Amino acid sequence: MTAAPPKGWCPGALRPMISGDGYLVRLRITGGMVSASAARAIARCAQDFGNGLLDLSARANLQMRGVTEATLPVLVETLQANGLVDESPEAEAVRNVIASPLAGLAPDAAFDIRGSVYALEQRLVSDATLHDLPSKFGFAIDDGGGLSLSGVSADIRFLALHDGAPRFEVRLADGDEAAVIEAAALPDVAGALARAFFEEARQCDLPPRRMAKLVATRGAEGIWRAAGFSPARRGAPLGSSPQPLGLNSLGACNWLGLGFAFGRVSAQSLAWLADKAEHHGSGELRLTPWRAILLPGVDASGAEKIISQASADVIADPSDARLAVIACSGHPSCASATTLTQQDALALAPLARSLAPSGVTLHVSGCAKGCARPAPARVTLVARDGLYDLISAGRASDAPMLQNLDLNACRTALRSMASPEGIHP
Ligand code: SF4
Repeated sequence: MTAAPPKGWCPGALRPMISGDGYLVRLRITGGMVSASAARAIARCAQDFGNGLLDLSARANLQMRGVTEATLPVLVETLQANGLVDESPEAEAVRNVIASPLAGLAPDAAFDIRGSVYALEQRLVSDATLHDLPSKFGFAIDDGGGLSLSGVSADIRFLALHDGAPRFEVRLADGDEAAVIEAAALPDVAGALARAFFEEARQCDLPPRRMAKLVATRGAEGIWRAAGFSPARRGAPLGSSPQPLGLNSLGACNWLGLGFAFGRVSAQSLAWLADKAEHHGSGELRLTPWRAILLPGVDASGAEKIISQASADVIADPSDARLAVIACSGHPSCASATTLTQQDALALAPLARSLAPSGVTLHVSGCAKGCARPAPARVTLVARDGLYDLISAGRASDAPMLQNLDLNACRTALRSMASPEGIHP
C-alpha cells in the first residue's frame, strides 16, 4: 500500500486520501453492481474500521469515511479478502467507468452492456499505457434505456444504439459529433481515444486534464484523427438526470429507488438495504450517480414494506426537500471548509425546494473549489471565514452577488429569490 495520494488524485482503497475526519477510502464498484453479501461486507468494514458513514459518489462508487492510520491496514486486508480491491493503486485509479444502473435488467435498453463494461475495465487495468490518464478522466457506457447517463459527466461516452445490432455511438465529452462502432470494438476504441487525448494534450502549453477542455482548446478533429477514425453523425442532445426514486416498473423489470441526502449512507442503512434486497428483490443493489440506490426486483408490496420500515435518512419520495440541496462534506470533514455545509444545506432545504419543484436548486460549498457540484446551480453558497458568499446561476468559483451572509441572511436571500420580485445586489 502506498501513502496518501499527491494533490489532484482521486482516492481509492490502496491510495486513500486524508481528510478532516480521517482517511477517505473509495471503492470502485464495477457497473455500480453490488451483491447483498458484498454490501453487508462493506457496511461491516465501514462500521469496524471507519466512522460508520459512507458516501455514494457522483461516479456511483462508495467511499468510507473516518478510517484511521491504525485501522487502514486491516481494512484493506478485509476488503482484499472480499474481492473488493484491485491489485494495484494504478489499476483502481484508471478504472473510472460508469455504467447505466440497470445494465442487463432494463427492458428498454438497446442491449445488455455488462460485457462491454467488464471488457473496458479489463483493458484499462491491463494496458499500462493508459495508467497515466488524469484521475478524473472517466468513461460512461449507457445502455440506451430510460435511466440515461446523458446528464453524467464523461470524457469518452458510449451510447448503445437501438438499431438491431450491438453497436455504440461514441462521443467526446459533451460534444455532439459521434462515431458508430461495433460493441466488440469498445475497448480498442476507448484505448485509441485515450491515447489520442494524451497525444493532443501534449501539444498544449498547459496540458488539459479533461477531454472537454482539450476539445475546447484544440478542437475535436485532431483527437478523432489521432485515434484513427472520424465522426459520421450528430448525436442527439444530451439530457438531464432522470428521477430514479420510488417504485418503478418497466415491463418485467421492477425496482425501488431510495435516495440519501448528500449521498451519505450509514453503515446500518447499507446493511439494512442488503437484507431488504435479499428478502424483497433480486439480492442485488445497484448504485447510481444520482445519490440513490436501486433495489431491482422489488414489487409493490415489497416496496410498501421497505418504505414503511426505512429510517429517516432514506428518501423514497422524489419531492423530498432534501433532494433540492447538494453540499460537500464541509467542516470538520474537510480542512478547507469553515462551515457545517451539510447541516446548513438541510436547514435551507425547504426554501431551496420553493425555488423549483424538482431538481437541485441550492449548492452549499465549503470553499470555491465546489467539489460537490462542478456544474452551475440556481443558487450557490460558498463558505468564507464562517459566512457565505452567494452566487446566482453560477459555479462555486464564480463572482458572488452577495457576500458575508450568515444562515439567517441566506434564508432571507433565498426567500427573495423565490418571490416574483427576485433579489438585487
Ligand atoms: S469544496 Fe472545498 S471545502 Fe468542500 S470538500 Fe471540496 S475542498 Fe473541501
